[in-house]
Amino acid sequence: MKLILIFSALFGAALCLETFVGHQVLRIKIKNEEQVRKLQFLETLEHLKLDFWINPSTFSRPVDVRVPANSLQAVKVFLESHRIEYSILIKDLQAVLDREKQEMVASQQTERSSNTFNYGIYHSLSSIYEELDNLASEYSNVVSKLQIGQSYEKRPLYVLKFSTGGSNRPAIWIDAGIHSREWVTQASAMWIAKKLASDYGNDPSITSLLDKMDVFLLPVTNPDGYEFTHTTNRMWRKTRSKNAGSLCIGVDPNRNWDAGFGGPGASSNPCSDSYRGPSANSEVEVKSVVDFIKNHGNVVAFLTLHSYSQLLMYPYGYKCTQPADYAELDALGKAAANAIQSLHGTTFTVGSICTTICEYFCCSEPLRAVPGQQPLDIPLKVSPSWEEGCFCRVAPSDFKFSQENLILALTNITRMAAELRSILRSPSVPFLLLFFRPSQWRQHRLELRLWH
Ligand SMILES: [Zn+2]
Repeated sequence: MKLILIFSALFGAALCLETFVGHQVLRIKIKNEEQVRKLQFLETLEHLKLDFWINPSTFSRPVDVRVPANSLQAVKVFLESHRIEYSILIKDLQAVLDREKQEMVASQQTERSSNTFNYGIYHSLSSIYEELDNLASEYSNVVSKLQIGQSYEKRPLYVLKFSTGGSNRPAIWIDAGIHSREWVTQASAMWIAKKLASDYGNDPSITSLLDKMDVFLLPVTNPDGYEFTHTTNRMWRKTRSKNAGSLCIGVDPNRNWDAGFGGPGASSNPCSDSYRGPSANSEVEVKSVVDFIKNHGNVVAFLTLHSYSQLLMYPYGYKCTQPADYAELDALGKAAANAIQSLHGTTFTVGSICTTICEYFCCSEPLRAVPGQQPLDIPLKVSPSWEEGCFCRVAPSDFKFSQENLILALTNITRMAAELRSILRSPSVPFLLLFFRPSQWRQHRLELRLWH
């Protein structure tokens, strides 16, 4: 153990990486509203530097929180004194991250010697960007690369366009990595890119999709944050913009959309990981997406990848009323969930954000707001199931499983969305939010146990 600690400290120091030695992730079981209030109070104690991976907002899901080593005692005493049940999900986060890093380094060596891109592992921003060019040149009949803007730190925001012709066809938007630490989402986006490109003309569902519609894929929505997770802080979630009047950096770009801006679940504190920003669309990464979709004018579905969990959700999150197209959204969600279940037996929870993760304590995952345009919005949460609870490494075999689930969900959702839309064409179809939680992480679970 001592050796591991020393290794972690040295490894981190050498790379200027913030280390998480001794940080634990606690899983807290909430039984009643009073306990939720207690945890919400705990969230406000800034000096503890807690990082809530799953916020206290419903009884049906446990709360996951990363606790720095020097806050552990205080938090455990707090929980025990209020008779709040908890278990230790990750005993030493740095040990998990070290293993993730070691696997990446080993895979990169193999990639270099074989001159290939392994779609089952995590990559740096530069490797991902290089691969976008490779895909665009190898599959130039279907794929082209566009730049839709640049990040706060002037990194390009690249979108892959999958198109087989036509002009301004109905389009599907897919983005990933708006929360930079959710590495499995950027990796999944790359896998989707390869799958769409290489299977056009071979796989009937992908061929039929691309014969009718275009797909726009933004694999790294928050490149500054993503780079920062590789160089400095693996747990970074926000953008890297400076906040006037505060030393704290960054905005939660998924709280920055112009829909329910500043509502419940979004913080006004620049130091919070859920900081909404000074105004809607203040983040250039968010505004670039909004402008692109607005200018396109014919985006009919919007999918976003998040992690971790196995949920498939649709609006609303910032309020608890049903959207006008509730029946359509629910049918889409259930069809996708059924398709996934038929593949590997994976189960998803389907529902609105409010009823699924917020219940009595409304929290928001603000939806994309594009004035004059109401695309069907389908953010997807991808990654390890919540039983494992981590943004970190995923066993290679699980990668493949989850990606298969994901592409099946995508093709089903888009196919059905296209069909439904032609029937239920409505000028006010709301956004659809789907958080995907690819499952079948048995091996991963076992490994986590071993690490503990
Ligand atoms: Zn997220």
